[in-house]
Amino acid sequence: MPTYHIWTIGCQMNKAESERLDALFMQKGWQATANAADADIIVLNTCVVRKHAEDRVINKLHSLKAVKSAHRNLTLAVTGCWVDSNAARLKKEFPHIDHLFKAGECPPWEDPDNWRQTLPIAPRVTAYVPIIQGCNNFCSYCIVPYRRGRETSRPMAEIVCEVTELAKRGTREVTLLGQNVDSYGHDLPDRPDLADLLTELNPIDGLWRIRFLTNHPKDMSPRLIDAMARLEKVCRAINLPAQSGSDGVLKAMRRGYTVAEYRNLIARIRERLPDVAISNDIIAGFPGETEGQFQETVSLLSDLRFDAVHIAAYSPRPGTIAAREFADDVPAAEKKRRLQVLESLQEGIAGEINAGLQGKDVEVLVEGRQKGKWYGRTRTDKLVFFNSDENWLAKNVIVNIRRTTPWSLQGALRQ
Ligand code: SAM
Ligand code: SF4
Repeated sequence: MPTYHIWTIGCQMNKAESERLDALFMQKGWQATANAADADIIVLNTCVVRKHAEDRVINKLHSLKAVKSAHRNLTLAVTGCWVDSNAARLKKEFPHIDHLFKAGECPPWEDPDNWRQTLPIAPRVTAYVPIIQGCNNFCSYCIVPYRRGRETSRPMAEIVCEVTELAKRGTREVTLLGQNVDSYGHDLPDRPDLADLLTELNPIDGLWRIRFLTNHPKDMSPRLIDAMARLEKVCRAINLPAQSGSDGVLKAMRRGYTVAEYRNLIARIRERLPDVAISNDIIAGFPGETEGQFQETVSLLSDLRFDAVHIAAYSPRPGTIAAREFADDVPAAEKKRRLQVLESLQEGIAGEINAGLQGKDVEVLVEGRQKGKWYGRTRTDKLVFFNSDENWLAKNVIVNIRRTTPWSLQGALRQ
């Protein structure tokens, strides 16, 4: 039986696409192998959002040269955001690559209809469902629109059909994916939006929870916030990246909103959904970011008190507007310092927010077992661990929280 190996780094979209590739191979009767050297086909699903990720891809490609020459029948395929429009150049540089296909595109060995309709094969408790590909925003630092192309929404009926099928197979929670889920539907006939899609998904039998990622502060609508308040399966968790707390930096980033607008949006969301958890993404050390502007980001995080913040040091990406127009003038050591200041501030805030759950009962959808402990998430996306000898996989349980850290909660099952 032929064997395959899929290597994946990067965002949830890559993970979702790798799950589909996995299902396609399994449909053909191929067997997965954890060891690349044993595989007949290796697929690398790559990320280049920061230089560090790109370096990992290049290292991986170099390390596979020896594997490829030792194993002549091995096929090496590369997808994800490393693959740009110049396939000829990439193949010249890395002649041991057999197939290149862009992120989100059909693998060259597949029938496009089969590829579109394939679902992740293993019945998982939680599943990712891409709803819109690409991005039209061109934030100045970001390479994604160059690699994933313009926005294309999947028809609503196709998504409803997929989620219905997933729920029949035992999936209890779906996370709808898009670089900007607030753009969903603008390119479809009748122009449905995310609120319409959530309304269609909410009644699906067997489905308990619906999440979505990522929202854009310039586009998130009151209609969506109303839908979240109205639809009982939609989780109380929002990822709303601010990227910076300074108007000057936001303008250079071409984000399309001001800090005051961002603060207002958070206030409106919290007024309508008092129990919501909000997470944020921040870039530290963007070109020209002064100490004063950095302090404005510190204030944003300490005033708004997010449940989680993903912080990255700015990494210039060739081909982006920022890499072309601005010198990468914040020294590496200073970027690192700013990143650490934000991380320790956030650790304190998340620690305090989570400590507020001490002694409380929370509802957890159990996703699996790790080191002898069951784990799952609350509707507000908090990771919870508990001990039990019984099988709780895919069950909704109530856990009483006994111990908290900034990153997770430990508790005891309520009988
Ligand atoms: N579409 C989402 C958004 O608007 O935030 C996320 C897309 S991006 C792939 C994920 C995160 O990577 C961003 O939120 C940003 O913080 C970070 N990122 C993107 N480009 C970056 C760069 N050049 N340097 C550092 N971080 C970057
Ligand atoms: Fe990149 Fe901005 Fe699009 Fe997000 S919204 S993918 S950060 S260009």
